[in-house]
Amino acid sequence: MKHIVIAGGGFAGIKLARKLRKQKDIRITLINDLEYFRYSPALYRAVTGFKIGIARLPIEWMLIDSDNVSVVIGRITDINRANKELKLEDGQKIDYDEVIFALGAANNYFGIEGLNEYSYGVKTVHDAIQLKVHIHNSLTQKAKVADENFVIIGAGPTGVELAGALGAYLIEVARKHKLKHHPVKIYLVEAGPRILPQMSEQASRKVSQRLAKLGVETLVNTAVQSETLSELKTSVGMIKSKNVIWAAGTQNNPFFKEHPEVFSLNKRGYVIVNKHLQVSPDIYVCGDNAATTYSGLAETAVRHANFIAKDIIARIHHTGRPKHYEKASMQVVPVGNRWSVFQYKTLVISGGLISVIRRFADIFGYTDVLGPIKALTIWANSDRFEDDCPICDKSQRYN
Ligand SMILES: Cc1cc2nc3c(=O)[nH]c(=O)nc-3n(C[C@H](O)[C@H](O)[C@H](O)COP(=O)(O)OP(=O)(O)OC[C@H]3O[C@@H](n4cnc5c(N)ncnc54)[C@H](O)[C@@H]3O)c2cc1C
Repeated sequence: MKHIVIAGGGFAGIKLARKLRKQKDIRITLINDLEYFRYSPALYRAVTGFKIGIARLPIEWMLIDSDNVSVVIGRITDINRANKELKLEDGQKIDYDEVIFALGAANNYFGIEGLNEYSYGVKTVHDAIQLKVHIHNSLTQKAKVADENFVIIGAGPTGVELAGALGAYLIEVARKHKLKHHPVKIYLVEAGPRILPQMSEQASRKVSQRLAKLGVETLVNTAVQSETLSELKTSVGMIKSKNVIWAAGTQNNPFFKEHPEVFSLNKRGYVIVNKHLQVSPDIYVCGDNAATTYSGLAETAVRHANFIAKDIIARIHHTGRPKHYEKASMQVVPVGNRWSVFQYKTLVISGGLISVIRRFADIFGYTDVLGPIKALTIWANSDRFEDDCPICDKSQRYN
């Protein structure tokens, strides 16, 4: 029986395992370095007061109804192509007939001094928990006065979503703790000439206006140069802050660069794949790791997984292999409560209705990796507020 190994339990890895979990003629091992799956679209919500469980989903639970999948928790450090074997950090060796790499992207500080030490992150569940605790403490442990500067670096979707949600969260924490309320400044800093550079100029303009209404000050053409404990140095001057959040900078997972004998990379460090998303007949690479036009989005990772599942099944049953995995994805960016911008190709729509659609779209996002029943359970509870702080935690819905 063919042994398929899925390296990485993110959007692509979990979707692929779920697609193949009832296939009788293959055995699957899914390897992930963490026990949980990160639902990244909800991370900014987890930072700003909602339950962490909307972004952290146990992997075993996602595959509990599978007939042929074993889950191994461990970090893959090496591949031996000749022996068809992966090596894990703990020394374990796992052989494969075919392996699919879906290890996701990694953080990148571009070597900017001080960011690694002093800034907070928002890209992992661990980052989100740390940041939430920090935001809460920086407001409440300071002589009951909320007067801080919060600086978010990077005006891609992650930075914009967080900037849009942060103001309401700060007001909520301040209200619950009865803080004397001084206006808290939120800056969104972007090195490029406009925010949301991956979207159209029209979408970018609408979001700038929306952020301004929410009191977020957007600083474009502003390159971050260094950070100390209490200041951020930029190309246009200093900003005093102990609350700097790094939402910019991703790069490919370093695993691929470390194995040049197996993977060829493009100029940006992503893995060059053929029309089947393969680098060789027994190795696929997909999701954020692959150098494809639309990589970098969860929807693309899921599309790649569907494509590879079909390809594997077609090869087992000697039927025609699927042909196309490239398709533009829709993009929706929520900005504060009850307002989102939507873009598909050149169509841009924004407003409250889009926000409602965005919330419902999460049902599909969760369904991709959980199936419909578990997805609905998570989604139905995704407006619940949660905090370790006894004053804040009333487990009530957050508006
Ligand atoms: C904050 C944030 C918000 C986002 N919001 C959206 C959004 O709203 N919509 C959207 O379409 N996209 C969004 N994205 C992008 C989306 O998360 C990615 O495109 C998607 O996760 C890629 O899926 P993947 O399967 O390739 O990788 P991932 O989902 O990142 O999964 C990779 C998995 O591999 C594991 N792993 C890594 N290295 C190893 C190793 N050496 N050994 C074992 N396991 C390993 C990781 O822990 C992880 O579980 C967001 C990203 C971030 C950071």
